[in-house]
Amino acid sequence: MSQSNSSRRRFLQILGVAAVSVPLAGVAVRSASAQDLTPLDSSNPTAAALGYVEDTATVDPSKYPQHKAEQDCANCQFYAATSDGRGTCQLFPGHTVAGKGWCASWAAKAG
Ligand code: SF4
Repeated sequence: MSQSNSSRRRFLQILGVAAVSVPLAGVAVRSASAQDLTPLDSSNPTAAALGYVEDTATVDPSKYPQHKAEQDCANCQFYAATSDGRGTCQLFPGHTVAGKGWCASWAAKAG
């Protein structure tokens, strides 16, 4: 067998493992996130840096002049509702955020 055939076979083996591993990894992440979600604490360093609050009405306008009263997690593009007025946020994996919460990364849901 030539060196290039051997290399090609090895490459195809790795590709096969990757093709199986990637979907399984997705299942593992989904399972973990469904079971292990905890409410986001505003003392979380990222949450604190983004000024996350559980109630959009409590945002300090002097710190976040871009904030508008109608903005909350429930109408942010990064939010997906789960239950009890809470949902997941793509910025805070492993946690739930309040539907009426807010942070400085708020962005309107598309369309
Ligand atoms: S990015 Fe959006 S959903 Fe996430 S905490 Fe900030 S406002 Fe809420």
